[in-house]
Amino acid sequence: MLRVGINGYGTIGKRVADAVRAQPDMAVVGVGKTSPDYVAERARALEYDLYAPAGRTERFETAGIDLAGTTEELVRASDVIVDATPGGIGAENHPLYADHDTPAVFQGAEEDALVDISFNARSNYEAAADAEYTRVVSCNTTGLCRLLTPLDEAYGVEKARVTLIRRGGDPVQSSRGPIDDILPDPVSIPSHHGPDVETVLPEIDIDTLGTKVPATHMHLHSVNVTLASQPEPAAVQSRLAEESRLFLIPEGMGIDGAGALKELARDAGRPRSDLWENCVWAESIAVEGNDLYCFQGIHQESDVVPENVDALRAMFGLADREESMRRTDEALGVGLSLDSTGRPRYPADEA
Ligand code: NAD
Repeated sequence: MLRVGINGYGTIGKRVADAVRAQPDMAVVGVGKTSPDYVAERARALEYDLYAPAGRTERFETAGIDLAGTTEELVRASDVIVDATPGGIGAENHPLYADHDTPAVFQGAEEDALVDISFNARSNYEAAADAEYTRVVSCNTTGLCRLLTPLDEAYGVEKARVTLIRRGGDPVQSSRGPIDDILPDPVSIPSHHGPDVETVLPEIDIDTLGTKVPATHMHLHSVNVTLASQPEPAAVQSRLAEESRLFLIPEGMGIDGAGALKELARDAGRPRSDLWENCVWAESIAVEGNDLYCFQGIHQESDVVPENVDALRAMFGLADREESMRRTDEALGVGLSLDSTGRPRYPADEA
């Protein structure tokens, strides 16, 4: 049983904690929090042991929220830490993990240089074997790696060009904008996402352009991939439909955007209405010569969650790629797909 500590219990950390807890071969030691707020209360209600940095324990005492110990004690009690603190804090925490010889999985906002390997389960699972420090790449990079890897295997990717229409902030981030605006973000081209994909898939030639819009539900990717050969759109659809972490949105179901996708997730009884899968509009898949086009929606709050679980198994040699992804998907219920009539199937309904 792998003992996992989660340091940072926000958007990503709380989801990773639940996902780790759902795995039969892993246990959550506890979660690291800095503030005794409603999220800390909820963690206690879910029976997660709470840990806080040594200088902040008094705040929890004052608020009447029990702590199991300090962050350092969490690190000591864990075989591995998933650091889900905000960008840059992971790098500050790195020496604490190193001092205790505790391996760690960091998140997308940390630098590639901080870790041994930048990780996506479908793209480079094996490369994380024996890594001490791994980084699960960002939500957008995860979505691009998942799409480009099977395309590259099947047809060869010569060049990818992707425009990312990014949500302004997560639903909980009241301080984020833009409000009533559309921003090139960054205004310089390419955005960092393409180089980030190349930390996982160095052989892929990709340029990305970033924008930001006043939305919170999801990102939208407008994708153009030049392939080495010319496939039929139907063959691409079939190929992508084989991927458990790609959901091909069926034609004619009225799923016209992020709002409908989130409603689908709510109706499917998904925890926090999460969509762990890339959501690729089947009818957007078009081929012009060797150029493939499509739109995909990425749920920024959750697509990296199964990847964190797989990163843990990869680092500790607990399973090979297929077995780990299968176990993770089964434990979480990943894999929206279509039945023989083209209607979405919900794994939760079949469990
Ligand atoms: P968040 O702000 O929602 O959560 C971070 C949590 O860490 C907060 O609860 C914060 O109080 C806590 N924290 C801050 N300093 C800490 C410390 N020193 N010790 C322990 N806890 C501390 O952030 P998030 O959105 O979950 O992002 C975390 C990481 O995941 C970042 O690297 C981010 O880029 C990445 N990520 C975020 C998203 C997303 O859409 N939210 C998607 C993919 C990847």
